[in-house]
Amino acid sequence: MTELAAAQAKVASLLAGADEVCLACHVRPDADALGSMLALAHALRAPGQRPRRVTASFGDQPFEVPEILRFLPGLDLLSPPQAYPDRPELMVTFDVGSIDRLGLLAGPAARAGELVVIDHHASNTRFGTIHLVDPAAAATAILVLDLIDTMDIELTTDIALGLYAGLVTDTGSFKFSATTPAVHLVAARLLGTGIEPGAVARQLWDRAPFSYLGLLSDVLARATLEPAAAGGHGLVWTTISCADRARHGLSLDAVESVIDVVRRTDEADVAVVLKQSDDGLWQVSARSKGAVDVGRACARLGGGGHRNAAGFTAAGAPADALAQLRPLLAEGS
Ligand code: MN
Repeated sequence: MTELAAAQAKVASLLAGADEVCLACHVRPDADALGSMLALAHALRAPGQRPRRVTASFGDQPFEVPEILRFLPGLDLLSPPQAYPDRPELMVTFDVGSIDRLGLLAGPAARAGELVVIDHHASNTRFGTIHLVDPAAAATAILVLDLIDTMDIELTTDIALGLYAGLVTDTGSFKFSATTPAVHLVAARLLGTGIEPGAVARQLWDRAPFSYLGLLSDVLARATLEPAAAGGHGLVWTTISCADRARHGLSLDAVESVIDVVRRTDEADVAVVLKQSDDGLWQVSARSKGAVDVGRACARLGGGGHRNAAGFTAAGAPADALAQLRPLLAEGS
């Protein structure tokens, strides 16, 4: 038995014996974080499971599920971080690379009796007591599916939909390099529960209000190409300020996918979009086609992610954030 399989078995037995389980994913959750957590929440309520209290949350204030994830089944299973036990006996985190990514739930995690960390970030700091961490996994969702299998719980559409949303998001619709044949087999199994992939893609990416086109026009017009940056691999970047979003009536979530247009640029391995959140801070998203490790660069600036997709938060002006990022990209190839 591998070390990971042994840890899976240990977690399965802890969950089987627990009267209360507390689940948490990272702040400003993406589909892999929230979908993985909701999948386990559903699994813990499957027929034949021990009756137990399940608390599921993430440490954002205000506590809001991103709009594009509101189609996921089980949002009624979520509670705000204020309702979270202060000292959970058994806590499980999803897609969380370091304890600060838990936001308001970092305190309960630090005080938890057992802290199970399920994650696939190479930068994971192993802040728990038991780690289901595999950087080779394409998504946290895959590790959660392994756990659900170990627990011998039958896949339902509700369980599978959260996992599929995580898998399809973290693999960039099965385009990123972690998309092995085994990943497609997992996807086939999840889809086999009755999920319609076109409907999921439409919810996650293929829709926007008409005003989004106006915002795209503004921010693409000011996109800047720096062919010599990122160690000669090229950098393309643009900004989306609060004023830009206000002019078009769009939330921060609604502009998340701008990076997917910007990163098409042939002349740049690295694409960066700096989005100003309502508190004035800049959320910096970075993507790489593979020559440059943006995960390492963003981790150096207090953020995190993977080789191909990462981000960090910056105070101050976009020019300052870029000035910090450029040398790290140059050495990160
Ligand atoms: Mn993930």
